[in-house]
Amino acid sequence: MSHRFATRAVRAGLNAEGGHRGVVAPVSVSATYRRNDPGEAGAFDYARTAHPSRALLEAALADLEGAAGACVTASGMAAIDLLLNDLPNGARVVCAHDCYGGTRRLFDARASQGRIEVVYADASDPAALEAALASGADLLFLETPSNPRLRVTDLAAASALARKAGALVAVDNTVLTPALQRPLEHGADIVVASVTKMLNGHSDMVGGMLACADAARHERLCWWANAAGLGSGAFDCFLALRGLRTLPLRAGAQSASALELAERLAAAPGVARVDYPGLKTHPGHAVAARQQSGFGPLLSLELEGGTDRAVAFVKRLELFTLAQSLGGVESLACIPATMTHAAMSAEARAEAGIADALVRLSVGVEDVEDLRADLEGALTATAQNA
Ligand SMILES: *Cc1c(COP(=O)(O)O)cnc(C)c1O
Repeated sequence: MSHRFATRAVRAGLNAEGGHRGVVAPVSVSATYRRNDPGEAGAFDYARTAHPSRALLEAALADLEGAAGACVTASGMAAIDLLLNDLPNGARVVCAHDCYGGTRRLFDARASQGRIEVVYADASDPAALEAALASGADLLFLETPSNPRLRVTDLAAASALARKAGALVAVDNTVLTPALQRPLEHGADIVVASVTKMLNGHSDMVGGMLACADAARHERLCWWANAAGLGSGAFDCFLALRGLRTLPLRAGAQSASALELAERLAAAPGVARVDYPGLKTHPGHAVAARQQSGFGPLLSLELEGGTDRAVAFVKRLELFTLAQSLGGVESLACIPATMTHAAMSAEARAEAGIADALVRLSVGVEDVEDLRADLEGALTATAQNA
């Protein structure tokens, strides 16, 4: 019987343990697995290659993304670098210009080595994307909604353009997770994500994942993950599978609170602009409403009063902790220019619309009235200095 998403998220990997009939599988810490015969390994052989805790998480993530298989890695960046192993030397990569700062740092470093060639384009603008793909490409790397400006890319339209150019499509689905968006259903070939963020949801481990529509590609990438030793350890996989059980609940609650706060902030004095795809005024609203089943935990805003006020505002917040990362049950605030996106050059940030005064909020599951009061308190307290 095929069950609905929330049921599959909760039940993933339960009752998998045979020996003691535990409902929840143990943390499988063994580095190695005994054999009956030197020439014949069992289901598991050596934990770099595979171990039960990782296998359960990979099966759960592949199922939730609708993929043939998933590889779970030690970080989101390890998953993105793993992806490059399936590309030929000198491969041409077209990447969203406002992708995660660490992705841009990695692609630029791989390009300066000559491993790949990378061009950045505003993927939310179909004409700009078509122009970037015009001379052919091996990979189109998308992130939607993008972070921190929350630009929305039409996944089906972008995938069709990429296919015409002969490019594979990979989508960084960190912010929404399969609870709110499943890129493979819109024509993408590969989903990558930081498990650290919304998937685990509790900011207590670091991990990544890569899920493929094609089984042969998944197998090649698993080969590389083993060869290079990129896989995640047992404790982190255990925590992530535990976090995953409440993903649909968290994604729903965080999206509802983020929308309410975005609406409040958009109407508040002293706020110059709010970026949130759930707002009807957002340029990507219609596409987001079509391809997503919720608008996610992330919003960004610019205040009147520039960088000094933005800094004063985030320092004044009490329930939004000033910290990098996103998607956890706890609310966080950051200034992308000096925090998450500091690795980008000032010119690249300007091109991607990341002003020094931009504030990014990740909305958690605290009572939304408390979060609203915290934001309004910080707005009022910093208004005099504006
Ligand atoms: C954090 C993040 C990554 C990198 O993941 P790590 O687990 O920190 O290595 C990649 N993409 C996005 C969108 C992220 O937010």
